Parts: sequence; structure tokens; C-alpha cells
Amino acid sequence: MELSANAQALAYLVSAILFILALKGLTHPATARRGNHYGMAGMLIAIAATLLGGEVQSYGFIVAGIAIGGLIGALLAARVRMTAMPQLVAALHSFVGLAAVLVAIGTFLNRRDAGTLNPVLMGELSAGIIIGAITFTGSVIAFGKLQGLISGAPVRFRGQHPLNALIALSTVALGVHFALTGSALSLGLMSTLALLLGVTLIIPIGGADMPVIISMLNSYSGWAAAATGFTLHNNLLIIVGALVGFSGAILSMIMCRAMNRSIFNVVFGGFGSEASPEASAMSAAAEKGVKAASVEDVVFWMEDADKVIIVPGYGMAVAQAQHALKELMDLLEERGVKVLFAIHPVAGRMPGHMNVLLAEADIPYDHVLEMDEVNPEFPTADVALVVGANDVTNPAARSDPSSPIYGMPILEVGKARQVYVIKRSMRPGYAGVENLLYYQDNCSLVFGDAKEVCEGLVNALKGSGH
Ligand code: NDP
Repeated sequence: MELSANAQALAYLVSAILFILALKGLTHPATARRGNHYGMAGMLIAIAATLLGGEVQSYGFIVAGIAIGGLIGALLAARVRMTAMPQLVAALHSFVGLAAVLVAIGTFLNRRDAGTLNPVLMGELSAGIIIGAITFTGSVIAFGKLQGLISGAPVRFRGQHPLNALIALSTVALGVHFALTGSALSLGLMSTLALLLGVTLIIPIGGADMPVIISMLNSYSGWAAAATGFTLHNNLLIIVGALVGFSGAILSMIMCRAMNRSIFNVVFGGFGSEASPEASAMSAAAEKGVKAASVEDVVFWMEDADKVIIVPGYGMAVAQAQHALKELMDLLEERGVKVLFAIHPVAGRMPGHMNVLLAEADIPYDHVLEMDEVNPEFPTADVALVVGANDVTNPAARSDPSSPIYGMPILEVGKARQVYVIKRSMRPGYAGVENLLYYQDNCSLVFGDAKEVCEGLVNALKGSGH
């Protein structure tokens, strides 16, 4: 069976509508599952319509590619831990970038042999290769940083920005030269410089700012796909690329606002703050010592509380403590305590990470408040229980201009009457900076695995006989 061009165009239209519905569904936890189903249906229709479209010359490689790639993808998806999701996403973005580069080079070679190159096509190829190559190496570096294969610390050196600007300008100049002349040498140099630019743009980005980079690379991968769509004259690829490109760009902007970073600095590599750890206030604070508390202390405070705010973070995800937290919530509510959950936009290791886990544990959405909604609640809370969150609660973001997280809005847990923080050690969070919260008078640390401590709280509350 071979689809006519009209039937294929219609199938692509249906896919495009399904992709838009998918994005709409993904805007709220309650509809996210449906959104995913729309996306999957759209992709199935898109692949089927492409394979049946009559342009395919041989199915052998395609079927083998789908079988091997599909198997690897399914194995990875089944095995990946939720906390390793950002690395996986970064790796997938790198594939999109690489695919865009390879398609563009393949098209160039074919069309050169056929003698059908023209400046417009070569302009499209340049755009595809530049964006694809930056996406590819940028995502590989992001993957290495997130996976801990290379240091997450920012790599900065004198003259970095002028160097990036020089590489970028040279890349574009070579792209223009290639579009006008079809020179294979320009193509090679342009590709090499664009690959280098991906590296130099991402190495200055440090720990806490990685979420923005991931969503920005997501956006780039969309633009790379759209450029490939132009090369292959495939309208659906252009539409999907634009959807990914714009949604990634919008998400980057939202995250920049949440982290109080400038989008300009993200795009051009390296964020504004120049951290100097020596000058930071943290070492002074470190000498003051921290207070440790036991499960019994926490229960004592929580039982008599009117309002408890729970602040989940990456550690809750690692320990998978969300179900124990749900039980804790139920027990406290039985005692008439109001329980709220506070979500920071970059808590955990991916956007929406905490929302997904809390939803999985059936914690009602109306108990889960975003940063702007929940911050005014802290001054009237009796207890703030921080469960494996660190950077997102660090007051150094407001008080210490030398801190790498300076300027990032935080959850103002320190304003609660009493703060308990569950973590296993004095190790810092992802950004690698000490948390000044721990040295506040109203803050105590409960050392231990988040799940074990939360289960301990549940058992202690059950046994407390109220
Ligand atoms: P952090 O990474 O700042 O801190 C996590 C804390 O959890 C650590 O202090 C750690 O301390 C503790 N912890 C780890 N495992 C356990 C465990 N099993 N039980 C108890 N505690 C545990 O997390 P936050 O959520 O506060 O902040 C997220 C950070 O990650 C931000 O810097 C953000 O920019 C970054 N990031 C976010 C992404 C996103 O999209 N959301 C993506 C990439 C990075 P200890 O080891 O002592 O137990």
C-alpha cells in the first residue's frame, strides 16, 4: 500500500494536531497522561505515513534501525532511574543534533553528485549543520556533567566571551561562504567550529544552572529538526521542530525567570555571577555548628502544629520517600494539622520532578503549592519539614553576592517557626555550596535516609496515641 501525497498530508495534519494537544495536556499533572497518549498516537501516525509515503527506496535499513534503536530505547527507558532522567534527555537531544548534521551532509553529497545544489538549499544545510552540531556537542557536555563523567563545576577563563563570539562569527561566515560557493572545505570547517562552539558554550555553566541549559538544548534540538524538515521538504518535521523549538524556548525563559538569570547570558554561555568561594560567607557560618534533632523531636513539634509545610527535593526522589510522606500527611491531617507541599521550580533534577512523584503517591494537587503561592505561608507555619532539598532553600541565594546561586529565588523555609531538614550528611546540594539555613537558630538537621526518617515519623505518630 502506498499513500497518495494528499493522504500523507492529511495524516501529517492529524499528527500535528495531536502533538499540539499533547503539549496542551502536559501543562497540568491531571491531564499529563492523556497528553502523552496524544503524543504517542501522533508519532505513530507520523512514522506510518512517512514509511508508506512512496519516497522510501528500501525498507531494510529502516526496519533494522527501528528494531535496534527501539530495543535500546525501550531497555533504557525501563531501566533509567527517575533521578537520571536529565542525563537521558540530554543524550536524546544529542542524537537529534547529530541526526540533523548527518542528514544535511548526506543531502549535500547526494545533491552535489546529482548537480542540483542551489544557494537556498545550501543556506538551509548550513543552518541545519550549525544548530545540529551545537546541539550535539553541547548535549554531550551536559550529559557528561549531569552523569558526573566530567566535573559539574563551571570552567571559566579570561577572554571566554570574546572567544565564543569569534567562533560564532567565523562559523556563520563559513556558513554564508558555503551557501554561496558550495565549497566542501567551508562545510568541513563550519561543522568543526560549530561542534567546538557547542563545547565552549556549555562548559562555563555550573551546577545549579543546568536545568536552564537542558531546556535550552531541548529548544535547539527542535530548531535542528525544523532545519532538517526544510532540507527534506517534510512539513511535519518543520511543524514538530518549531513546536519543540518554541516550547523549549518558552520553558527556558520561565526557568530563567524562576532562577533570576538572564536568557541572554544563557544563550551566550556562562551566567552573570562570578563566584569566589573564598570570599563567601559560608566558611564563617560553618564554624558556628549545626543542631541535630531526632525523629521524636520532630514528632513532638508536628503533633501540636496548626500548619506544617513539607519541602521535597532531590533527596526525596533518591530515597523514594513520597509514599511515606503521603502517609505522614494523612496522619497529620487526622490530627487536624494543615499540611502543604512547597515546590521550587528547579527542585529535583528535572522540571516537574517533584510534582510527578507527589502525584504518584496520590497527594492531592490542591495541597501542592508553587514557590510564589507558598512563600507567604511560611511565616505562619509552625514546622517546615525539608525532605532532601538543599539548594532551593539556601538563603545565601539572597544574602551572599559571592555565591554561585546568588539571585535565585528560594523557598523561604527559614521563616517558619521551626525548620527540620532531613539529609544524610553535611554534604552540599547540586550547586556545591553550603546551606546557610542550617546555621539558623530555628533550624535542626535530622540525619538519615529520607525514606527511613519519614517512615520513622509515621511510626512514631502512629504510636503516639493521639
Ligand atoms: P539538591 O541537589 O540541592 O540537594 C539534595 C539534597 O538531598 C542533598 O543535600 C543531599 O544531602 C540530600 N539527599 C540525597 N540523597 C538523600 C537521601 N537518600 N535521603 C536524604 N537526603 C538525601 O536538591 P534540590 O532539590 O534542593 O535542588 C535541585 C538542584 O539541582 C538545584 O541546584 C538545581 O538547579 C539542580 N538541577 C535541577 C534540575 C531541574 O530541572 N529541576 C536539573 C539539573 C540540576 P546528603 O547527601 O547529605 O544526604
